[in-house]
Amino acid sequence: MKTVQTDVAIIGAGSAGLPAYRAAKAAGVSAILIEGGPYGTTCARVGCMPSKLLIAAAEAAHAAARTAPFGVHVDGTIRIDGREVMARVKGERDRFVGFVVESTEGIPEADRLIGYARFIDDGLLQVGDHTQVRARSVVIATGSSPYVPEMYRKLGDRAIVNDDVFAWDDLPRKVAVVGAGVIGLELGQALSRLGVDVTVLGARGRVGPLTDPEVKAYAEKVFADGFRFFARTEVEAVSREGDSVRMRYRTAVGSASGSGQVVEDTFDYVLVAAGRRANVAGLALGNTSLEVGKDGVPVYDPLTLQAGASPVFIAGDVNGVLPLLHEAADEGKAAGTNAARFPDVVPLVRRAPISVVFSDPGVAMVGARFVDLAPGSFVVGEVSFEDLGRSRIMLRNRGLMHVYVDKTTRQFVGAEWIGPDAEHIAHLLAWALQMKLTADAMLEMPFYHPVVEEGVRTALRTAAVALDEVGA
Ligand SMILES: Cc1cc2nc3c(=O)[nH]c(=O)nc-3n(C[C@H](O)[C@H](O)[C@H](O)COP(=O)(O)OP(=O)(O)OC[C@H]3O[C@@H](n4cnc5c(N)ncnc54)[C@H](O)[C@@H]3O)c2cc1C
Repeated sequence: MKTVQTDVAIIGAGSAGLPAYRAAKAAGVSAILIEGGPYGTTCARVGCMPSKLLIAAAEAAHAAARTAPFGVHVDGTIRIDGREVMARVKGERDRFVGFVVESTEGIPEADRLIGYARFIDDGLLQVGDHTQVRARSVVIATGSSPYVPEMYRKLGDRAIVNDDVFAWDDLPRKVAVVGAGVIGLELGQALSRLGVDVTVLGARGRVGPLTDPEVKAYAEKVFADGFRFFARTEVEAVSREGDSVRMRYRTAVGSASGSGQVVEDTFDYVLVAAGRRANVAGLALGNTSLEVGKDGVPVYDPLTLQAGASPVFIAGDVNGVLPLLHEAADEGKAAGTNAARFPDVVPLVRRAPISVVFSDPGVAMVGARFVDLAPGSFVVGEVSFEDLGRSRIMLRNRGLMHVYVDKTTRQFVGAEWIGPDAEHIAHLLAWALQMKLTADAMLEMPFYHPVVEEGVRTALRTAAVALDEVGA
């Protein structure tokens, strides 16, 4: 058994672990990066990048099928070759992964260890069966894994998760997607547009990350018009029959996309997108003095990322705060810096919250979520994209946006919406939020014509009128 000594040990070479390593080194201390799985990060291998590649193929198929209203006719069949679709998804994905692997392998070999790490005590890690690492500080950046509820585990290889989709060589015929969160919606819609017969089954009425009831109800209808989508269902029975899965589910009465019917159906696969769980089970945290929460993750300060008063820091998806790439990168950098500076830790300055679902129409949220705002403290500005000039020109005129503006300061505090070009508008709004702009200051900004951003102006104007009405 080899024993090595370091100032900072980082567990996990993902999107949080890599910047943690670089930050620790930049702070002038020694650091070791430990990775148990393949290099390349979840984002590049089975997350952001392959999902967006699949969505890009789906968008191409969808656009090709919808030219007729413009007077442009694609005569003949639109043929989707599942093998070619998956070959491009995997080929481009491998290219992205290759860049990450190359940069990770560029880290000096002496600073890298391969193997799963677990704690022996607060400052001692066992890596695989070959090395022990004595570290002054530790960054836990182990990410998360898909959660597969017990009832689906008995389905064997017919219950799949996102990782498996990106290993397909061809597209299947029929898939049930369990979960209507971001991953379920993105993959469900993309597969449906690629000709797969898709049913998305939500459990608790979720429509991606949306919390604003009106926007959520609108989005639910939009998705239900495109594919079999039930935001609130109960799966009553599931069993494997040969190479298929038999399912019985009950839709909720009175939801926008169901009416209490009991449905029995058979699928090639059940894609389980029912949330993710922190990768902490293998860390043997019981061997440490860390206080561990209900989710198994050490209790930590979300600003300094420090677990109690210990020299252990928690960064990226493992902490479950904001499971997004840019947040993981920011947290990794902050955790690496604090691990190096320990005990003189400093708080992370978070950017304005922004999240995007790459569906069509897109779903996005900026700033405070509707549910987190104190009732009565804000006004709501609204725009429908249905009659907005630019949206109608493009025939992408479905969408509803709510912007939230503080009654006291007239500052823009958040927005939730579904609509065209959401990923770009989300950036405008997030930048305005981070600059602490008031609705009035935002309305003084230029708006070209005809552009989708004119919808933002309408929403802000209605908010300004509402503010004037309440005398804010
Ligand atoms: C389908 C999908 C789509 C997504 N799309 C987007 C998107 O569009 N935009 C966006 O911002 N985010 C997206 N995300 C989220 C984004 O991928 C994550 O936020 C990000 O990858 C988290 O990085 P991380 O470093 O925390 O985890 P990871 O990149 O998973 O890194 C954790 C690493 O730790 C290693 N590890 C675990 N346990 C141990 C151990 N005990 N010892 C050693 N190593 C260990 C793992 O092998 C892994 O390599 C998506 C995620 C998924 C699944």
